[in-house]
Amino acid sequence: MRGQIIQITMGARKKGASMDITTTQAFKAQLLGMRERLLAQIAQQRGGAKSRAEVAAEHFARSEDATAQVNTARDLEFALNEHETAELSAIDAALERLSAGTYGHCTDCDATIPPARLSVAPEAARCIACQETFERHPS
Ligand SMILES: [Zn+2]
Repeated sequence: MRGQIIQITMGARKKGASMDITTTQAFKAQLLGMRERLLAQIAQQRGGAKSRAEVAAEHFARSEDATAQVNTARDLEFALNEHETAELSAIDAALERLSAGTYGHCTDCDATIPPARLSVAPEAARCIACQETFERHPS
């Protein structure tokens, strides 16, 4: 019955069981790497010259001008910034869940998020079902 020991360690499927420390560390490293790349990407897109506040200020200055023509290049850039900002906060939130010990659990229904999903999207906060609901009805 040598196989039994392996079965016990592999079969840690107790509902609500926390992730083991190795898995947690791996996701943390992955998230930190993503964060770094994203920050570098944002810095590069802004030419390193503009702060987030400056970009936002420019955007709002434009929006207030009712007769302003739509500057598609600028709008596109701003949309990209928003996307990246959202991604960055998703990564930060995931890192917070890691330190809080709630990582890997859906923030909506508390179900365990499948590791396969997390390895593709380590910043995922919701299980697939809740994410689909969220995307259909964003609050
Ligand atoms: Zn869920």
